[in-house]
Amino acid sequence: MSGEINELTELAYEGSEDQLTMTPVVGTPERAYPRVLAPGAEELVTGEIRVTVLGSGDPFVKKSQASASLLIEVGNEQHDRFFFDLGSGALANFNGLRLPVTATTKVFLSHLHADHVGDIPTLLWSLAKSGRRDPVELWGPAGEYGPLGARAYAQHIEAAHAWDMEAMCGHPGQSGARLLTTEVPFDRPATVYERHGVTISSFPVIHILNGAVGYRLDYAGRSVVFSGDTRPCHPLVEACDGVDLLIHETFPSAGVFAKKAGVPEALAEAVVNGAHTSPAMVGKVFAGAGARMSAMWHLVVDHETIGPVFSEMRTQYDGPVVISQDLTVFNITKEAVVTRRATVDPFAWPVVGPSQTGGPPMSVPHEPPAWWADALMTG
Ligand SMILES: [Zn+2]
Ligand SMILES: [Zn+2]
Repeated sequence: MSGEINELTELAYEGSEDQLTMTPVVGTPERAYPRVLAPGAEELVTGEIRVTVLGSGDPFVKKSQASASLLIEVGNEQHDRFFFDLGSGALANFNGLRLPVTATTKVFLSHLHADHVGDIPTLLWSLAKSGRRDPVELWGPAGEYGPLGARAYAQHIEAAHAWDMEAMCGHPGQSGARLLTTEVPFDRPATVYERHGVTISSFPVIHILNGAVGYRLDYAGRSVVFSGDTRPCHPLVEACDGVDLLIHETFPSAGVFAKKAGVPEALAEAVVNGAHTSPAMVGKVFAGAGARMSAMWHLVVDHETIGPVFSEMRTQYDGPVVISQDLTVFNITKEAVVTRRATVDPFAWPVVGPSQTGGPPMSVPHEPPAWWADALMTG
């Protein structure tokens, strides 16, 4: 992209192949990346991380922006893939990338706001029917008391979907429709995952109540920090030591938010500065964190927001910054951080890869109710 980001800038949803940034490449990449990443077209090399924004938007899910979600893939032997948050609409973008449904087994939640968890039922029960046989591991914050934590959330969502689970008796996917939950502390940094060369640590952030965290993923000397939802805070900046990519939530300034949302300025002020991070403050965070590339995320991206947001951020920081949209992709290597756009196959069928879990279905199908014999139309 040349020139400035303003109300005339074309957006990805409108067909633009340019990202919302002045600096799509930091460093000198060793290989040539196509301008647009086609579904399933590119294998990662050893030592590489790829971050795909599956949901860039806010709670008001829309065709141009799914709600909060990132996919992080690493170039290890296992081709590990991790979801960070899974807001509504994120899985439509994931499925369109034509990546294996069998790889959807690891989810890290930043907190339990609905816009960060809306696609969990689809991941659990519908992707199990589409070919996933392994259970889903879920990491999420503990609450100040039991019912507010990730474990209680998982138990209740499983209980709420009892009919779906029972209806899967006899279906080979039933083994994939289970959650294995690990709570992470909300009040101190912790290492929460260490496998196959990947380390994921959590750190506390400040968002409305205790029970919100951010995450850092490290693999092969490369790293990504993800804020979840937060006000600007020191634990996040401290977690960014030497980081390659920082993805940080950003809201429009209170004035822009009040006008767009049609709410009084005092309420906008409470939402933007009392629970989230304004463009000027995210610039301060970026300056303190010093990541090779920084990205704003969880921002309503439209023609009225992007110009003021970018220029207000610029009052505090002049390093490489991207406004992320759905399907913004970052490839991170030792040599470079590159951002571009992925495209999706809107008609994709599931791609099924290998599972660890094999064997017959966990349980036998139910006998059909007696009344069906008379009620069923037959050919
Ligand atoms: Zn949110
Ligand atoms: Zn939130």
